Amino acid sequence: MSLYGNGFAAMAHAVTPGPATNDGPTPVAFEQALDTYEPVLGLETHIELGTASKMFCSCSTVFGAEPNTQVCPVCLAFPGSLPVVNEKAVEGAIRLGLALNCSVAPWGRFARKNYFYPDMPKNYQISQYDEPICVDGHLDVTVDTPDGPREFRVEIERVHMEEDTGKSSHVGGSTGRIHGASHSNVDYNRAGIPLLEIVTKPIAGAGELAPLVARAYAAELRDLTRSLGISDVRMEEGSMRCDVNVSINERGASEWGTRSETKNVNSLRSVERAVRSEIERQAGVLGAGERVVQETRHFQENLGRSTSGRSKEEAQDYRYFPDPDLVPVAPSAEWVEQLRTTLPELPAAKRARVKAEWGLNDTELRDLVNADAIDVVEATVTQGASSKEARKLWLNELSRRATEQEVELSSLNITPAQVARVIALVSEGTLTNKLARQVVEGVLAGEGEPDDVVEARGLKVVSDDGALGAAVDEAIANDPDAADKVRGGKVAAAGALVGAVMKATRGQADAGRARELILEKLGAS
Ligand code: ADP
Ligand code: MG
Ligand code: ZN
Repeated sequence: MSLYGNGFAAMAHAVTPGPATNDGPTPVAFEQALDTYEPVLGLETHIELGTASKMFCSCSTVFGAEPNTQVCPVCLAFPGSLPVVNEKAVEGAIRLGLALNCSVAPWGRFARKNYFYPDMPKNYQISQYDEPICVDGHLDVTVDTPDGPREFRVEIERVHMEEDTGKSSHVGGSTGRIHGASHSNVDYNRAGIPLLEIVTKPIAGAGELAPLVARAYAAELRDLTRSLGISDVRMEEGSMRCDVNVSINERGASEWGTRSETKNVNSLRSVERAVRSEIERQAGVLGAGERVVQETRHFQENLGRSTSGRSKEEAQDYRYFPDPDLVPVAPSAEWVEQLRTTLPELPAAKRARVKAEWGLNDTELRDLVNADAIDVVEATVTQGASSKEARKLWLNELSRRATEQEVELSSLNITPAQVARVIALVSEGTLTNKLARQVVEGVLAGEGEPDDVVEARGLKVVSDDGALGAAVDEAIANDPDAADKVRGGKVAAAGALVGAVMKATRGQADAGRARELILEKLGAS
């Protein structure tokens, strides 16, 4: 193998991305593929840590700055510059490892992973190779099946630290791809941002649930990481990305099949679809009597499946060796134990707790989880609302608004405290549910606190007997026929009078109280 063997492999990838022209044999439908084959999965997830500075220098990590303004001799790899490990990044790695039930290695070195890439100024990436910081953990995930929720244990092989590359953009073409571009720009602001890579052991035995297990794992890892506060883990912004390994073997076979690795999958939905479509593709390949080649593939959002990338390098191509510029990472047992005490309540424990505290059934819990609403509902309950009312508002009205605005619930322009206030206004009778929706609308539109919106929009329920009584008297005076019928015992005729009251108060009357007053005044109660 030539010294540059791998460099050329990476180069070839860099200059000829784009879908492969040969898509291979026709895929086999998922259910049919599962009749013959058993899938095995493996997920490699990269998470960008939210540290203030980079992995080996003090450059800022703030997103969105002018290109190449957050760089220094270290992350630009000037000769003679020396990297220094970011303690906060090590801390984040250890905390995640502990949350994943891993053991923490008492000693380990960084390695140089050598390959050429235009957005990587050093021509090697500092990573951990055979001495990762955390090993041998697990994460339990739950998937919904027709027979109810089912739990899977995903074994974690390792959590290791590394650094991100810069970013290339290709200018002059119509697609933004290198193909057809006149030139490329490189932004090194991202080069050297700390990354964690979390690698699972092979996940076998999930059968037809494999796509859902992969998705549930990614979701659980995201929520777990978020609860630790070490990353904003936004898949759509690239601060968490999954490489999805899939192989299939004939049922009962003694060996697993050859895997492919679909790179940089950017949403939970795509993780699920990447597994599913890859099972279908590989079943087609094997069914046609061909072999699955070990390769990286690229998931195409618009197609809902992956296309061929490059054939996979072997680890030896990277010529890993310990980085001589960095001291080993040797976390003391005391430090690790101290970090263990900083772990928050983890998502699984929180789910179990709120399920019990709020008296939820499996479906109600699942709805909350799927809407990613547990935290906002809990914060609303902390502000004094009942969990039932809080769930109702967040899962209906507010979820609808979040979907409209394409944001997460927690990013809506309303706080749990404001939601709790709206709920309080309803339960004390100041607002009807209908008026409450208008108040929510006002708060979201930036019209201020709930009470301000009620005041400014004049939304109070008219329920004090004075104002309401006047409206009732007027309705009776204006419709003597209906009033006579009610007096004569036809209580149903009160509906017309209630309607008149509601109209006169522009819908703000408490209809129940209006009805009571009408019946009272007409001697029919
Ligand atoms: P590489 O360094 O080449 O990416 P790894 O050992 O890191 O290889 O494995 C990548 C991922 O693939 C891991 O999550 C591993 O569990 C998974 N994996 C290994 N063998 C298989 C297989 N036969 N089918 C599916 N996934 C596999
Ligand atoms: Mg790997
Ligand atoms: Zn720097």
